[in-house]
Amino acid sequence: MSVVFEKMALIGVGLIGSSIAQAARLKGVVSQISVATRRHDTLDQARSINIGDSYTTDAATAVADADLAILCTPVGAFESVMEEIAPALKPGCVLSDVGSVKGHVHRVVGPLVPKGVHFVPAHPMAGTENSGPLAGFASLFEGRWCILTPEQNVEPGAVTRLAGFWRALGSDVEMMDADHHDLVVAITSHVPHLVAYNIVGTVDDMEMVSKSEVIKFSAGGFRDFTRIAASDPVMWRDVFLTNREAVLEMLGRFLEDLSTLQRAVRVGDGVALEALFTRTRTIRRSIIEAGQETDAPDFGRAHIHQTRQSGSTKT
Ligand code: NAP
Repeated sequence: MSVVFEKMALIGVGLIGSSIAQAARLKGVVSQISVATRRHDTLDQARSINIGDSYTTDAATAVADADLAILCTPVGAFESVMEEIAPALKPGCVLSDVGSVKGHVHRVVGPLVPKGVHFVPAHPMAGTENSGPLAGFASLFEGRWCILTPEQNVEPGAVTRLAGFWRALGSDVEMMDADHHDLVVAITSHVPHLVAYNIVGTVDDMEMVSKSEVIKFSAGGFRDFTRIAASDPVMWRDVFLTNREAVLEMLGRFLEDLSTLQRAVRVGDGVALEALFTRTRTIRRSIIEAGQETDAPDFGRAHIHQTRQSGSTKT
């Protein structure tokens, strides 16, 4: 694959930054990678897996001469990072980010972008519940969407180059208005995370069922919520602080529908319950058909055989 940007600087090198570095190097779309992170421990981890050509805790040093600079910290840190790096960004540089919210990013980062720098915000819709450089892997973005939300007046060539970069990393790219993006992710990602955090929190506070029973019998649906609720606390705190309006709008709709469902359970309305569950099963099937999920049994979990006193069992 041909080089899209000569020098790429990553500010933040957790799961997403590390995966970008590994994928970009594997695909040969950048010639040089400069990595910056806040803590020396994280920098040492990044260095140990050799994901960059230079490493620093000084973000301004990392972006000097960069043709592409990507903010890969939690969204709440973008403003302070921008204050540090803005004077060091060279004219013609494409500045981007990977934040899970976009309206806030435009409002906070937009005014700090120096003249001559092309700001093209992005959201790779790929991730896991794990954090840090060692959690990253090169195939993270394969077959996943990356949404770009540039302002109308951004140089089209910069948008085309960034779109080409993400396509080279294996993503499908789509353009979207930032506020519309925030509504879409509020219902597809943010509210589901809030529900998972809530249900796992409720179970944790419960006294009628013991913790050991919850852990032992967690396969009945709860286990899948625990995976989502294990996501990084700081990143998700920032998501809810910065996408408040869209989340509240979608949460309102969700709570109304939950009340309807509560009523159906209370009055024993089997027809309504079955109609909804049939509709939702179709959505699941279309997600699998779109290649966004596996149809393997038990969501593709690896199964090992364990021997219990009472005999052999699967976990
Ligand atoms: P992560 O693994 O926790 O890594 C975060 C990185 O940001 C680390 O390098 C960390 O540095 C740095 N950082 C944290 N707080 C900082 C601060 N206050 N100032 C400067 N640097 C700071 O996070 P991630 O999962 O890669 O997420 C990064 C971004 O990707 C977030 O904006 C998130 O919204 C977005 N995103 C995440 C996912 C996902 O599933 N995880 C998916 C799509 C987009 P130190 O370790 O050195 O402190």
